Amino acid sequence: MNIGIVGLGLIGGSLGMDLKALGDHYLLGVSRRETTCQKAMEWGIMDEASPNLALLSKADVIFLCTPLAALRPTVNQLVPHLSSATILTDVGSVKASVVNDLATLWPNFVGGHPMAGTAESGLDAAQAELFVDRVYALTPVESTPQASVEVVAGIARSLQARVIHCSPEEHDRAVALISHLPVMVSASLIAACTTNENEDVRSLAQTLASSGFRDTSRVGGGNPELGMMMARYNKDAMVRALSAYRHELDQITQHIEAEDWRELEGILKETQRDRQTFL
Ligand code: NAP
Repeated sequence: MNIGIVGLGLIGGSLGMDLKALGDHYLLGVSRRETTCQKAMEWGIMDEASPNLALLSKADVIFLCTPLAALRPTVNQLVPHLSSATILTDVGSVKASVVNDLATLWPNFVGGHPMAGTAESGLDAAQAELFVDRVYALTPVESTPQASVEVVAGIARSLQARVIHCSPEEHDRAVALISHLPVMVSASLIAACTTNENEDVRSLAQTLASSGFRDTSRVGGGNPELGMMMARYNKDAMVRALSAYRHELDQITQHIEAEDWRELEGILKETQRDRQTFL
C-alpha cells in the first residue's frame, strides 16, 4: 500500500518508523520543513518526503499528523491532489470538531486517535513501537465509508495497537477526563511548586523532589502546543472535567480543614481501590 503521512513529528515519525519496518508499504512523507523531510529520508523512515503536498497524489491512505490547528488548512490544500478513493485519517487528540470539519471537506475520512505519546515533540522524539498494546480509537460517523474504517483499523492492528470504536463526542468527553484534565492538573501542580513565595522552601522542594513528583508532573511538563490545542478544541468537555475535579478537591480541602480524618481516609481508600479496577 502507498501510505502518506503529513506532519513528521512525534506521532507521524513514530507511525512512519513502524509502517516502514513492516516492509509492506511505500511511505510518502510531507512535513513543513525541508530539513525534517531530508532527515526522515536519511533515517529510512520515508521512501520519499517533501514539503509539497502534491507528493501524496499517489497515496492510498494518508495519515494527518500535524498539530490540530493545521488539519483543516492541510486538507483544503490536499484535496486537489487526491482521487476520490484516497482515504484520509487523522491522529488528533480531539475528535468531534475535527471529524465535523474534515468529513465535510473529504467524505472518505476516518477520525482516529492513537492513545500513545511522550512529553517530547518533533521528529527527533519519534520512537519505534510507540503504538504496541496501546488503544487506537476510531470515531466513524454515519457518513463514514465502512470499507475505509476497516482499512485504517487493519493498519492500526498491524502496529499491534488495540482498535476500539466510539462516537467523536463520547471520545472527547472520555479523553477530557483521562488525558486533557491530567495535563491541566499536572501543570497546576508544577506552578504551585515553582511559584511558592518562600525561596528556601522552593529550593528545598526542588532538592527533595523524587519519583512521585516526577510521575505526577510528567504530563504537565509536556508539549505546550498540544495542551493548548486540547483546551481550545475540546473546551466544553474540558471545562466540565475541570469543574468535577475542583469539586473533588474542594471536598478533600474541607475534610482536612475540619480535621475529618475518617472521611478523608474513606476517600483515599476508595481511590486506592478504584485505581486498580480503573486501570
Ligand atoms: P509534533 O511532534 O509537534 O509533530 C507535528 C509535526 O508536524 C511538527 O514537528 C512539524 O514538523 C509538522 N508540521 C507542523 N505544521 C505542519 C503543517 N502545516 N504541515 C505539515 N507539517 C506540519 O506533534 P505530535 O505530538 O506528533 O502531535 C501531532 C498530532 O498527534 C496532533 O494532532 C496531536 O493532537 C496528536 N496526538 C499527539 C499525542 C502526543 O502525546 N503527543 C498523542 C496522540 C495524538 P516540521 O516543522 O519539523 O516539519
